[in-house]
Amino acid sequence: MRLRAAVPLHASVALVLTVLTFTGGAAWLSALAFRRRWLALGALYLALSATLWVAAPLWGRQPMPCWGEPLRAKGIYCAMNRTYVTPELALVLADLAGAMEAAHPGTITLMLDGGFPATNLPLLPHLSHDDGQKADLAFWYRDAQGYAPARTPSPLGYFAFEAGPTDCRPGSFSLRWNLAWLQPFWPEMTLDGPRLETALALLEADGRVGKVFVEPHLAQRHGAGSKVRFQGCRAARHDDHIHLQL
Ligand SMILES: [Zn+2]
Repeated sequence: MRLRAAVPLHASVALVLTVLTFTGGAAWLSALAFRRRWLALGALYLALSATLWVAAPLWGRQPMPCWGEPLRAKGIYCAMNRTYVTPELALVLADLAGAMEAAHPGTITLMLDGGFPATNLPLLPHLSHDDGQKADLAFWYRDAQGYAPARTPSPLGYFAFEAGPTDCRPGSFSLRWNLAWLQPFWPEMTLDGPRLETALALLEADGRVGKVFVEPHLAQRHGAGSKVRFQGCRAARHDDHIHLQL
């Protein structure tokens, strides 16, 4: 009886974990069969995620590196199985990071969300990122010591907004979050303009890249080319990261 009452709860938890991490839901449900449930959850999550790390090429995806230079994916998104892309996009990102390093020695290019290892499930809260052909890049930042490699003001890499003029008005249903209450918590870091300019120029020159999303006021200030689009007022804002797709 108790187990039956808990079914909706476990189903909901599994759904949320699947949406966030892909393998978390299956790990949660399988762990219910074990006496030491939390230990089993951790072990199953690791085992399932490691299996997909190896098996992703079956679905035409590959994981981005989670350490090393000049390109790496942010650890939290690696741990959540959200850093898979197609081999072609992996190559585009590696070339971009290499060219960034050549133009500005010591630069590390940091990927945020890419896609899941299998299926065309979109990566929430993004409305896309469903086919391995889309990736988000963190901006490059400076602190009091100068360029801060692979560091972002927000621990997630998202939500530290470079607010500027916009035509968007607050709407009732929109993914264009302001999160004004959160902004004072970020440490003092500034956007590295020259690195953003170089990245936008490289993406413009790369024939494999189809579209780039950056907020219009940043695009204008940093010399964006014809591939840079505005995502619209009802989608996630792009003054905290770059979105690119093939
Ligand atoms: Zn994106």
